[in-house]
Amino acid sequence: MTAPGYGVEHLPYGIYARPGEPPRAGVRYGEHVLDLAAALADDVFAAPALNPFLARGRTAWRETRERLQELLTGPGAAREHLVPLGEVRLCLPFEVADYVDFYCSLEHATNAGLIFRPGQEPLPPNWRRLPVGYHGRAGTVVVSGTPVIRPHGQRGADDFGPSERLDFEAEVGFVVGAPSPMGGPAGAFEEHVFGVTLVNDWSARDVQAWETVPLGPFLGKSFATSVSPWVTPLDALSAARVPGREQSPEPLPYLRRTAPWGLDLALEIRLNGETVSRPPFRGMYWTPDQMLAHLTVNGASLRTGDLFAGGTVSGPEHGQRGSMLELSWNGAEPVKLPGGETRAFLHDGDVVTISATAPGPDGTVIALGEVSGTVRPAG
Ligand code: CA
Repeated sequence: MTAPGYGVEHLPYGIYARPGEPPRAGVRYGEHVLDLAAALADDVFAAPALNPFLARGRTAWRETRERLQELLTGPGAAREHLVPLGEVRLCLPFEVADYVDFYCSLEHATNAGLIFRPGQEPLPPNWRRLPVGYHGRAGTVVVSGTPVIRPHGQRGADDFGPSERLDFEAEVGFVVGAPSPMGGPAGAFEEHVFGVTLVNDWSARDVQAWETVPLGPFLGKSFATSVSPWVTPLDALSAARVPGREQSPEPLPYLRRTAPWGLDLALEIRLNGETVSRPPFRGMYWTPDQMLAHLTVNGASLRTGDLFAGGTVSGPEHGQRGSMLELSWNGAEPVKLPGGETRAFLHDGDVVTISATAPGPDGTVIALGEVSGTVRPAG
C-alpha cells in the first residue's frame, strides 16, 4: 500500500483531478490519493484549492491529521476512497496569496557576493542583522510539471532578447494557513504556518544582474516560480527539527527564535535525470520562525495562502550549491554532466527536478514531493 516516504506518518496535502472531474483535495498515501471530501464527509475538501482548509487553523489541522491516520490504519482503511496516483492530474495545491522570497543561506549569499562583487566583503552589512527578502509575484507560481518558457528581457544596456543565463534556485517554501491582521506582528510560527513545499525560483541571471540595483529582483524572477504538488504538514516534520545555527551578532529581540529550530531536509537537484547537487536545508542561517517574525514586524498582515521561501539552499561543499550560478561560478567553471555535455546555465529542453527527504518518526523517511520543470524556447 505505501511507497517509501509516503506512509501514514507523512500524509501531505494536495489538489488533484480525475479526468473530466473538477479538482479537489487529497492526501497522498503511498501510490494513492485519498479523496478527502468523501473520506471525511467534509465539503471544505471539495474546493479546488487547500485554502479553505488551511484557514481553519492549527487545531483543525491536527484533528484532521489524527482522523486520517485512524482511517488509514483502521479496519477497511478507507480503501473505497483511495484513487491511484496514475489516474489523476496534480494541480497547484493552494491559491497563492502573497509570495515572498528570502536569502537565508550564508553560503549562497557569500557565493553570490564573491561572484558579483569580487574583491569586496561578500555579505552586505545588513545580512547578519535581518533575513533579507523581497516580494515576488504570486500569480506566476505554478505547479511542478508546468513548462517554463525562457524569458525575454534587458540583458544590459541596449541588449534585449531571450535570457542567455537561465538558472534554477533550489528552495524550501512555507505555506501560511491562519491569517494575521494588519498591525501585527503575527503570533507563534506554528499557529500560522501549515506546512512545507519545495520551490524552484527560476532566475534569469543576465536580466537580474542588470535590473536589480537599486530595488532588487524584478523581471529576472517573476516569469515563473514552481512548487511541488504536495504540502507536507509541519506536524509530519517533528522528527526533522534541528537546532538553529549559531548567529553572530545576536539578533534583535523581535528576531529571537520562538520556534528555535531548522529542518533537516536533504535536497537533491537533478538536471536531465543526473544529480548535480545535494543542498542541505539544515544549515540555513535564519530559521523559518525568524523569517515569519521579520515578514510581519512592520505590521504587514498574513493571508491564507501566503508563501514564503527561504532562498537558495547552498551548503559549504561544491556539490551542495543550489544554483547553476554557483555550480558553474557564473559560467567560469561549466558543470560536466555524466553524458559528456557541459552546462554553464540552462539550455532549452533541460529538465530540472528538485526533491527532498527528511527524517520521519521512528526511523521512517519522509519524501517531500518533487518540483520539476522543463525549459521551453523563448516565444
Ligand atoms: Ca530565490
